[in-house]
Amino acid sequence: MLLVDVDGPLNPYAAKPHRRPEGYGTHRLLTPRWEAAERRRLTEWGLPNKPVEPLRVWLNPDHGPALNALPLDLVWATTWEKEANAFIAPLLGLSELPFISWPLPRSRPGDGVFWKTPEIVAWAKGRAFAWIDDEIAEADRAWVREHHDGPAMLRRIDPRRGLAIDDFAALTAWATGLD
Ligand SMILES: [Mg+2]
Repeated sequence: MLLVDVDGPLNPYAAKPHRRPEGYGTHRLLTPRWEAAERRRLTEWGLPNKPVEPLRVWLNPDHGPALNALPLDLVWATTWEKEANAFIAPLLGLSELPFISWPLPRSRPGDGVFWKTPEIVAWAKGRAFAWIDDEIAEADRAWVREHHDGPAMLRRIDPRRGLAIDDFAALTAWATGLD
């Protein structure tokens, strides 16, 4: 399976607006969670009646078909959780996918390990997984090697660029090599 993060791989949030990667479109999404978080923030700032601005998201419509073409089962591994199905999947032409729900409060594994990493390993239960995320680092690879009893491929995606052709090639090569 392939665990898919939204912000970074699909939404290259760190790209400068004037250098937005080619092929991406702009979407303005007002998800219930974004709206609630922004409402809280505006209220804290003493602006309870100010309308909430939607969240700007860049998406590449080619990513949906390219993800679907991979020989891997897709699973959301994003803080968007079920909102990825409601808001992101339809814009990319993806069907509703299983998603990992994260516990609150966030785990704090320490040693520079990303909080998602232990959760993903626990969720995978030894099953083979590839994972694309902009926050993967060497500490996460080490943690997975030590705690995950099965094949795993962690691929960091540059959040200035999003998922690119070489990422799809690497994922295909990894999945094909599993057989
Ligand atoms: Mg991310």
